[in-house]
Amino acid sequence: MTIATALSATELAAVRADFPLLARTVRGGRPLVYLDSAATSQKPQVVLDAEVDFYEQRNAAVHRGAHQLAEEATEAFEDARAAVAGFVGADVGEIVWTSGATAAINLVSAAMLGSTLDAALGRGSDASRRFVLGPGDEIVVTEAEHHANLVPWQELSARTGATLRWLRVSDDGRLDLSDLDEVVNERTKVLAFAHVSNVTGAVAPVATLVAAARRVGALTVLDACQSVPHLPVDLHALDVDFAVFSGHKMLGPTGVGALYGRRELLEAMPPATTGGSMVEIVTMERTTFSPPPQRFEAGTQMVAQAVGMGVAAQWLGELGMQAVAAHEAELAAEMLKIADIPGVRVIGPSTVGVGPDGLPDRVAAVSFVVDGVHAHDVGQVLDDAGIAVRVGHHCAQPLHRRFGVAATARASASVYTTVEEIVAFREALTGVRAFFSVD
Ligand code: PMP
Repeated sequence: MTIATALSATELAAVRADFPLLARTVRGGRPLVYLDSAATSQKPQVVLDAEVDFYEQRNAAVHRGAHQLAEEATEAFEDARAAVAGFVGADVGEIVWTSGATAAINLVSAAMLGSTLDAALGRGSDASRRFVLGPGDEIVVTEAEHHANLVPWQELSARTGATLRWLRVSDDGRLDLSDLDEVVNERTKVLAFAHVSNVTGAVAPVATLVAAARRVGALTVLDACQSVPHLPVDLHALDVDFAVFSGHKMLGPTGVGALYGRRELLEAMPPATTGGSMVEIVTMERTTFSPPPQRFEAGTQMVAQAVGMGVAAQWLGELGMQAVAAHEAELAAEMLKIADIPGVRVIGPSTVGVGPDGLPDRVAAVSFVVDGVHAHDVGQVLDDAGIAVRVGHHCAQPLHRRFGVAATARASASVYTTVEEIVAFREALTGVRAFFSVD
C-alpha cells in the first residue's frame, strides 16, 4: 500500500497501555480481545481523566453565569469544540454539539421539517426556503445505511410528501453507481450516505457522490461515524454540506457527538429544538435566536462529555490519523483471511486496497456468516474464548436483507487492536463449525 507507515510495535504497546480496560480479563481469566469497536470504542486514560478533572475542578453550566467556574467551564467547552473542529477540517463555528450522530441527523431532518411547516404557514426566513421539501422532491440514501441515517429520512419523506429513493449495493458490498445519474436527478434535494459502512467496512466514493449532488443542487449529509475514528477526514476537502459523528466511537465518552454544517447553511437553518441558551431576545409573543452553533444547542449542555471528546480528538490527532489508518488497514487484511476458513463468508469487500485519495478503501470492520451456525452462536463461542464481537443486524436490516441473511457476526478493530488479537480471533473462529458439528 502507498499509505503512510503503520504504528511501530513500541508505539502500539504505548497506545494499549493508555487504555485501562484492555488490561482486564473476561470469562474465567481469559485476556480480553475486544473486537467490537465499531459499536463503541474503549477510552484512553486522558479522556477518563479529562472528565473527572472537569467534574472535580471546573463543573459549571456554560455560556451563563459570571463566576470563575462558569468562565472556566465555558472555555473548556469551547476549546473542545475547536479541537474537534480542527480534527475534522472544519471551522469552529461549524461544529454543533449533539448527544450523538443519531441526534445530529435528526437535528437536520427536523430542521427541514420545521422549514417545510414554516413555509406552509408563510413564516420562516427566505434563506430557510432551501430546506423546504414537498411532493415531487426526492431524498436519496443508500441500501447500506445504518438505521440512524435511514429512518429519519423515511419519516421526513412521509411527513413532507417527498419521495425516498436509494442507491443499491453490489455483490461486493460497495455502492452500485450504475444508476447514479438517474437516482440523483434534478428532483433530488438531499443525498445522505455513510462515509464508511458499519457492516461492510467499505469506504464510499465521496467525491463522486458529492459531485452528483452538486450537479443537481442537492444538499449532502455525510454519516461519518465510522470514518472519523479510523481515517484522516477533512470535511472541507470532502466538500459535504453536513456531516455527523459520535464521540463514543472515536475514543471519547458516550452522550456526545457532533453535527458539522457549512456555515451559511447553519446560518440559514431554523432550530429544531428550542428553549434556554439558544435565544437572544424573548418576549411573551416571540423570540429571536442566537447565531449558530448556539442556535442548535438548547438546554444545559453535556459539558464534561464534550471536553472528553475534545481530548479524544487531540489524542488521535497527535498519534496521526495516517498512521492509524495504515495500522488498521493491516488489521483489516488480517481479518479478511477468515474467508479462507471453510464455511465462512465475508459480507463486503474481500480485500483492502487503496482508494483514489491514497487512503484504504475499507476499514477493519468485517461482517461474516458461518454456514450452518447462527450468528448469535458464533458470538457465544468466540465470547467463551474471550473474544468480543457484535452479532445481529448492526442496525442495518435492509443491507442484511440485500445479502439474504438475517444476522451476521462482526469483528471490528480500533487503533489499540493488535495483529495477535486478530490471529486469536481467526483461530477461535476456525473451531466454530466443529463445535456445532456442522463440518
Ligand atoms: N451511523 C453509523 C454508520 C453507525 O455505525 C452508528 C452507530 N452504530 C450510527 C450512525 C449511530 O451512532 P450513535 O448511536 O452514536 O448515534
